Amino acid sequence: METTLLDAIIVGAGPGGLATAACLQRAGQSFVLLERQSQVGASWRTHYDRLHLHTDKAHSSLPHYKLPGNYPRYPSRQQVVDYLDDYADHFKLRPRFNEEVKLAQRVGPVWSVTTTQAGYQARSLVVAAGYNSEPRVPAWPGMDHYTGQVLHSKQYRNGSTFKDQDVLVVGLGNSGGEMLIDLWEHGARPSIAVRSPVNVIPREVFGVPFLTMGILQRGLPSRLVDALNAPVTRALIGDLRPYGLQRPAEGPITQIREQGRVPFIDVGTIQLIKQGHVKVYPNIERFTPGGVVFTNGRQRDFSAIVLATGFKPVVQHWLQAAPGTFNADGAPLTSGRPVADQKLYFCGYYISPTGMLREIAMEAQSIARHISQQ
Ligand SMILES: Cc1cc2nc3c(=O)[nH]c(=O)nc-3n(C[C@H](O)[C@H](O)[C@H](O)COP(=O)(O)OP(=O)(O)OC[C@H]3O[C@@H](n4cnc5c(N)ncnc54)[C@H](O)[C@@H]3O)c2cc1C
Repeated sequence: METTLLDAIIVGAGPGGLATAACLQRAGQSFVLLERQSQVGASWRTHYDRLHLHTDKAHSSLPHYKLPGNYPRYPSRQQVVDYLDDYADHFKLRPRFNEEVKLAQRVGPVWSVTTTQAGYQARSLVVAAGYNSEPRVPAWPGMDHYTGQVLHSKQYRNGSTFKDQDVLVVGLGNSGGEMLIDLWEHGARPSIAVRSPVNVIPREVFGVPFLTMGILQRGLPSRLVDALNAPVTRALIGDLRPYGLQRPAEGPITQIREQGRVPFIDVGTIQLIKQGHVKVYPNIERFTPGGVVFTNGRQRDFSAIVLATGFKPVVQHWLQAAPGTFNADGAPLTSGRPVADQKLYFCGYYISPTGMLREIAMEAQSIARHISQQ
């Protein structure tokens, strides 16, 4: 156990932890940045190859050090990784790598944190361990007897090994949608299983990123924003019901603000669906040895099934916080602000209609300001 009492302990050296560390350092605060992996931005290093930011560069930088001017409007996964490396170097941040936090608890007026290597104490604790931490893997009847390959989107790198194969992607979120394009580009025959109605929005409207429109409209009520945007979205995306995709009753902004669910930002998937290159099916009812039976009774064989079924935060496993800190799914109820009077802060746990990285940048600055005023 290190005996120095620090101003803060930060858990996680992804965008949220790095941003908070940079802001704390500028404010002259003492802290330690703990990371279970061996490099910064670990989650971005293992995302699928084709990934590009869905949010534009102008609104995706971390505080006090912008994404490079020569990057495209939507930087690639590798460019984000390089940027996070540069960000840590620029601020001379020295995360303690290969230290996984196993327990964080409040002992009197301080936070006591135990990692796989050491123990630390600080007045404040910042949890930036990632909303998208642990794969969410649903179970269906018969899944154990399926003879093809099942992988979660977190394990998917690219479609090169699926050439000429029938591949089912489960879940039309932003990862699932881009993987369909990737599979098709690699010569696979992709299909998608969609459980519920989906809000589809274009990445840009007449050259303006949808995110920018969201920022301009953020003071307006959700339903009004959705009503204002609906005609443009309809004109650009069209009616998708003939292709098997239903629209929910709530519009995209209402859905994010009220349910924390991000809409599907189309980067070309819808065109592939309309052209018949991607087949749309309803939810899976059960697996068969060679494929699946869908809820509409149709049976189809697939060589592989990619579960783009999302992630869940798992901080509750190691964080002992006061009752009322988490919702029923284990997600923190507060992000970017102090949690009650515990000197506890979460960074990156609010699903924002205007982009997570933009939100993380604002939260990090606000957390650092709060900690340095203690
Ligand atoms: C596929 C994908 C695409 C995305 N695209 C965009 C986009 O275009 N625009 C946008 O704004 N947002 C996007 N996001 C959302 C969000 O910006 C990213 O998930 C971002 O990486 C979140 O940063 P973070 O620091 O909160 O979490 P993470 O990047 O997940 O970092 C958390 C870090 O904490 C570490 N950690 C976890 N538990 C422990 C522990 N117990 N001890 C020590 N270390 C621990 C992890 O190893 C990890 O390095 C995307 C998310 C995903 C999954």
